[in-house]
Amino acid sequence: MIEPFKKADNGLFYLEKWEREEPGLVAGFTSTAGGTGRYNGLNMAFHVQDQSSVVQENRRKVAELIDFPTSAWVGCEQTHEVHIASVSKSDRGRGALDYETALAATDGLDSNETGVLLTLCYADCVPLYFLDRTTKRIGTAHAGWKGAVGGIGPNMIKKWKQEGSRLEDIEAAIGPSICGSCYKVGASVVEAVRKWYQPNEDMPFSPVRNERDTYFFSLQLFNRDLLIKEGLPPENIHVTSLCSSCSTDFFSHRRDRGHTGRMMGYIGWKEGNYEG
Ligand SMILES: [Zn+2]
Repeated sequence: MIEPFKKADNGLFYLEKWEREEPGLVAGFTSTAGGTGRYNGLNMAFHVQDQSSVVQENRRKVAELIDFPTSAWVGCEQTHEVHIASVSKSDRGRGALDYETALAATDGLDSNETGVLLTLCYADCVPLYFLDRTTKRIGTAHAGWKGAVGGIGPNMIKKWKQEGSRLEDIEAAIGPSICGSCYKVGASVVEAVRKWYQPNEDMPFSPVRNERDTYFFSLQLFNRDLLIKEGLPPENIHVTSLCSSCSTDFFSHRRDRGHTGRMMGYIGWKEGNYEG
């Protein structure tokens, strides 16, 4: 399988196929490269006890690299729930340079306007990206195990279907996040995941040998399965092989035992790129 996320010389990962095929579309994921501050890297989140001025500086740096000003960014207070907010130009700047103005209790964003960058922060949870090239709608969601079990991925697809998207037009990408060999979970998580499957289906988890009630769990495959169950053609889903814990390109909440920075996933159409 082709890795959908390519690393640019500037240290940012980008969704190569989408950016190449859709001029004006910006879709990517930050790494630890560059930046200063408490976590010795490009921490993009305000809520992890880093200095605000450092986070602002890191964000301005990324804004310059992707040529998308922070005044056009929209960010969220992420709570591992399933609320999706539709945003427009009137929301621009919220949560861009502080945490207070971020959209409260929101883990998914979508928009059909240009000049709005949808942003969410991560350290192991799965970034989901959505694109409908026909309606020009874009979306993103923060899908850790709670959000995924809650159905945030399928919810985005349901929402877009109600708003006129055809299933075959919706594409999704699953971004850098903890892999199935790095992520161990307990029985309660596995039970919640199992509810999404028929008993005879392949499960995205397997028992860890010699560790009672412990499982290796692939959040990436789980999220993919849920999108397929909601009707997305498998060929429309691009899954990364990049692991936030295996690779030193990323912060990892698990690997770094909770004391770590956050990457940012983002998607947006540059201002005036199409007539919406
Ligand atoms: Zn890994």
